[in-house]
Amino acid sequence: MIDKFNNELTELPFENCCVCDVNFQESGTQYLVEKSIKRVSESVSYSIYEYAICWNCAQAFQQKISVESNAAIELYFFNQLQNKEPKEFDELIDPIEEALSACLVKGTSVEEMNEYVMCAVFRNGNFSFGAMPYVLSMEVLEELSEQLSAETKDEMDDFRKTYLGGPPELEELLKGKPVVFL
Ligand SMILES: [Zn+2]
Repeated sequence: MIDKFNNELTELPFENCCVCDVNFQESGTQYLVEKSIKRVSESVSYSIYEYAICWNCAQAFQQKISVESNAAIELYFFNQLQNKEPKEFDELIDPIEEALSACLVKGTSVEEMNEYVMCAVFRNGNFSFGAMPYVLSMEVLEELSEQLSAETKDEMDDFRKTYLGGPPELEELLKGKPVVFL
């Protein structure tokens, strides 16, 4: 499961923060990996973009986002998740595998989506204790995007432009879509 969050180019775990370049292993810092996945067929998928960011940089970015947008994101998740039935505990099911099998909010299975994002928090090369990885569908990203101020969307577009690179078509495709870090 953890391999899913490896760097697609090196096929190894991410080593450095895309913003400040800190080495995750040397510093022991907590970090976050986000991947935007395109599924082409049952067995073929690739990441449209992916990055790893250290905790400090993720927080610094979050502070740049307007208070209104942060509050709106929080409220969106609160409203969407508050009525969700808690999952029954089943010792035969790996909770991480389960978390990565469907959209956190809508419950749509990964197999039914052509495009989605997945996110996880790591420390010392492993999933960070207490923070479950999650998957969000495009539907959720669009709904989230509607909650964000124009200013916040600009911040997110800037982040992508500065740190993720990629072709202009990609930028156009993702314009106004949220960068996830939650
Ligand atoms: Zn950093």
